[in-house]
Amino acid sequence: MPTRPMSRAAALILAALLALAATPVGAAEELDWDAIGEEAVELLRQYLRIDTTNPPGNEIAAAEFFAGLLAAEGVDAEVFESLPGRGNLVARLKGDGSRGGHIVLLNHMDVVPVSAEFWSVDPYAADIVNGRIFGRGITDMKADGIVQLLAMLALKRADVDLGRDVVFMATAAEETGGIEGAGYIVKNRPDLLHGVEYVLTEGGGGQRRGDREVHEIEFTQKTPLWLRLIAVGPAGHGSRAIEDSAANRLVRALDRVRTYRPPLQLVAPVAASIRATAGFEPDPYLRDAARRIDETFTQPGVLNAFSSRMGNMLRSTIAITAIEGSTKTNVISPRATAELDCRLLPGVDADLFIATLRDVIDDPGIEIETMLRFDASESRRDTSLWRAIEEAVRRRDPRGMVVPSVLAGFTDSHYFRERGIVAYGWSPVVMGPDDGPAHGVDERLSIEAVRQAPRLLYEVLELLATKR
Ligand SMILES: [Zn+2]
Repeated sequence: MPTRPMSRAAALILAALLALAATPVGAAEELDWDAIGEEAVELLRQYLRIDTTNPPGNEIAAAEFFAGLLAAEGVDAEVFESLPGRGNLVARLKGDGSRGGHIVLLNHMDVVPVSAEFWSVDPYAADIVNGRIFGRGITDMKADGIVQLLAMLALKRADVDLGRDVVFMATAAEETGGIEGAGYIVKNRPDLLHGVEYVLTEGGGGQRRGDREVHEIEFTQKTPLWLRLIAVGPAGHGSRAIEDSAANRLVRALDRVRTYRPPLQLVAPVAASIRATAGFEPDPYLRDAARRIDETFTQPGVLNAFSSRMGNMLRSTIAITAIEGSTKTNVISPRATAELDCRLLPGVDADLFIATLRDVIDDPGIEIETMLRFDASESRRDTSLWRAIEEAVRRRDPRGMVVPSVLAGFTDSHYFRERGIVAYGWSPVVMGPDDGPAHGVDERLSIEAVRQAPRLLYEVLELLATKR
């Protein structure tokens, strides 16, 4: 069929149709992303100056800061305390449900303590040095809190018609286990969980790797199992040694624990993450092995390479931590205790793990008390939220990749996963090698990363939640 140049009128109509097709229903207002980027930087600096070091937390000050920002834009927020000073906040943009259940943007407001004497700047002043903002909690997770807030406010400013609720949830106490924050909410406020399909929080995120952005979405994590070993025995004076004392029995048990190593094993979520990142492996032999890790894992060369570089993701681990016995040099205490911080691979059964430890210790006189345990839980990956993140990442960087990841630590996600809600750890703040360290000295983040992030999250939400 012969072709001919399109007439000008036809071209204009086509362009208008294409623009219409690309614009989601209801995204009426234009957003000024440069201005929103600057706003993110300014609000983040104000937020960093609110000291929410946990303990004691005092998250109520941060909750009131967010409530004021939301009120100024006509969004109601509910602020509530789990204990005096332990503030939590929830705010919501309503959708009609045509796209599905609610998405919760979850961020914790508390930060870990600092050793200020090692910092080169005041950890609570939000100083800018060489294009980076310094401040305790900026990467964990105050920048995310501001970015989540602005992405939500941008939906409101653009007057986007929503097909699902978008919920902003800022919580207390994550750094000490979340009991007064996310844990309080799941236990005491079932109304806030009702209708929730997705939770997006910390645990993964974007980073530059070579010439592309790689975004890790954390979909499961190792689970903590905290145990206390308790030994009892005859008490006495230190001048007369007692072979069977509590301290001696405890030391013998701890030595057995110390020399025991849980077996190397490849669990399915970790295998998925190894396969997804195989392309970054410089060594051709290991690259090929990573792509077929289920078959190659037991080959000695492969096992050695992967266990030396990521051993903690290939086995459950045991760390001996708090040890207590007599408080007097010359008193043999009738009781001695030690705490074990065990981290189990996803899918490892806690009861079986404890039974194995009992065999390892091989002393019926040692009591094993469980201090903390979670059920292992994993979020499925075939979801519209996962696809929305992939699509938004590719729009920003056509070579960008989204890969599944497993976290060695734990976050508040487990509270939601245990209730069947899909929770992902993904931050839209793309970190460079000079950003961080979370919990460390001179914690910092580049201004540019902060400026760019609200738009990326907004695009995810627009893809996921705009009414069609
Ligand atoms: Zn955190």
